[in-house]
Amino acid sequence: MSAPSAHDVCVIGGGVTGAGIARDLALRGLSVLLLEKGDWGAGTSGASTWMIHGGPRYLEFDWDTTRRSCEDAGHIVTIARHMVYRIAFIVPVLPHDRNNIERMETAMEVYDRFQPLKKANPHVRLTAEEARRAEPGLTSDLVGAVTLEEWGLDPHRLVYANVQDAVANGARALNHTRVTELLRDGGKVIGVRYRAPDGSHSEARARVVVNATGPWVPEICRMVGTEVQLRPAKGIHLVYPHRISNFGLSAETVDGRDVLMVSHGGFTLLGTTDDDFYGDLDAMDVHEDEVDYLLQAFERVFPSIRDYRPVRTTTGVRPTLFKWRRYEDELSRRYQVIDHAPEGAEGFVTIAGGKLSMYRLMAEETSDAVCRKLGHQAPCTTATRPLPGSESELEPAAELALRHGIPTLAAIKLQSRHGSRAGDVLDKAQAGRIVCRCEPLTESELAYAARHEQVRSLADAFRRVGLAGGPCAGAACVMRAAEVIGQQLEWSASQRFDAVREFVRGAWLGRAPVLGQSGWAQEELAQGALRGLS
Ligand SMILES: Cc1cc2nc3c(=O)[nH]c(=O)nc-3n(C[C@H](O)[C@H](O)[C@H](O)COP(=O)(O)OP(=O)(O)OC[C@H]3O[C@@H](n4cnc5c(N)ncnc54)[C@H](O)[C@@H]3O)c2cc1C
Repeated sequence: MSAPSAHDVCVIGGGVTGAGIARDLALRGLSVLLLEKGDWGAGTSGASTWMIHGGPRYLEFDWDTTRRSCEDAGHIVTIARHMVYRIAFIVPVLPHDRNNIERMETAMEVYDRFQPLKKANPHVRLTAEEARRAEPGLTSDLVGAVTLEEWGLDPHRLVYANVQDAVANGARALNHTRVTELLRDGGKVIGVRYRAPDGSHSEARARVVVNATGPWVPEICRMVGTEVQLRPAKGIHLVYPHRISNFGLSAETVDGRDVLMVSHGGFTLLGTTDDDFYGDLDAMDVHEDEVDYLLQAFERVFPSIRDYRPVRTTTGVRPTLFKWRRYEDELSRRYQVIDHAPEGAEGFVTIAGGKLSMYRLMAEETSDAVCRKLGHQAPCTTATRPLPGSESELEPAAELALRHGIPTLAAIKLQSRHGSRAGDVLDKAQAGRIVCRCEPLTESELAYAARHEQVRSLADAFRRVGLAGGPCAGAACVMRAAEVIGQQLEWSASQRFDAVREFVRGAWLGRAPVLGQSGWAQEELAQGALRGLS
């Protein structure tokens, strides 16, 4: 084992919270080590609904979370402006809904007071005819509707932009690196032992260790005999490889919960469930009854939903703070920064709970606590400092496309990931062919991601640049992608085959729960195309 490295702070967990903390602390001038056992954003953050929202639902029982969330969402949409987009929702009201149209409008009037905090527009009330004209797929049972505006973004890219900026400011950030032990010196936590992707073990010393592992928080706490209790809640989404509706839509489930159908550019997320989960966080399945629960809710407001075929599912676990007796959906999304010194673990801090939409604030408060412990005085700058790619205006996508000889849609997608740095990506990698037409991705961006963005597998490339995110779900592009990445990472021919096989197996787990009859037929075809690899 090599000699331990030494840092001011070691942050465990490369989800949005950990990445945000690493960035904040690096910008305050501290030396930071960030460790992620999988890939950046591959935990709960990537499994979210991809929304920076205020949560009008929390107004009923926790309006302070709505306010904080809206405030921080306002900061996030400013610092990440190249990756955010507005999502207009229609909230349909049906005859036997929990809230009639008057109650629904009253709730929106209250939410309107918070909307300016996140630069969103106030609601509009629609008659049934107006709503159906805007969204012809809505049921004819409609009583009326209200609109609602939120923000969307790719959480994988948000996490990575934070990692990127942390590294640009001196942090060391390692993905596929699992913390296996916390190092102690009597009553003090003095660092971590971790396992690198090649299986070797190393130690890192740190004056403060931060546990930002989302739903894994209790597991890391147990390593030093401390306790943080969560009420982990599983949520799944169905993923459709295209838009289904003109607007985001909400629907009421059989047990009175609200679920959403949201288009993010070229694909649609339909979800989510919210169920207590005490199983293995590293081996979650999606069950057919969860799929059916979501479809049953949407069928009521959007009767043709079962005619569309989802291509996969996502699943994640909310790191919700523990509360006894509360129905899962009514649990507060508050967060807590916990200094474990009183429990005999000086130098160990946990951040638990919260939401993607207020990750920056959570990171700020955690970083403040760390700085207090270290006697380090430097202000937080993340509320106004742009993330990489959001520093300057974007050039028109058509001009970028023309200059580099790529389709305009590919240039738009590239800018949504790299913002004003999109041209540099193409310059550095010399624009090449399109790897996949259905999710227009250039070979150059893929090669760049392998060389400069810590992509080590095809699944990493899915998260970093959207590989296999389109209708082909990888069938038409993963072989070529393995060639492109393999060239950059010097993979042998067998390593390239292994990479494809690993991706196909992983993708299967997310796809199996939504395969109807025609889905199984397509699956056989796809498997046939890859015969010899699986
Ligand atoms: C279905 C669903 C939908 C949601 N939708 C939204 C939404 O639209 N908007 C919103 O604001 N919020 C949403 N949320 C909540 C939000 O996604 C989470 O609150 C947030 O992403 C949590 O981020 P995190 O960084 O704390 O946790 P995570 O993203 O889970 O990150 C923790 C990381 O720690 C790593 N880790 C664990 N153990 C170790 C170890 N031993 N060594 C190294 N690394 C380790 C994990 O691999 C993981 O990547 C949703 C949640 C769910 C489940």
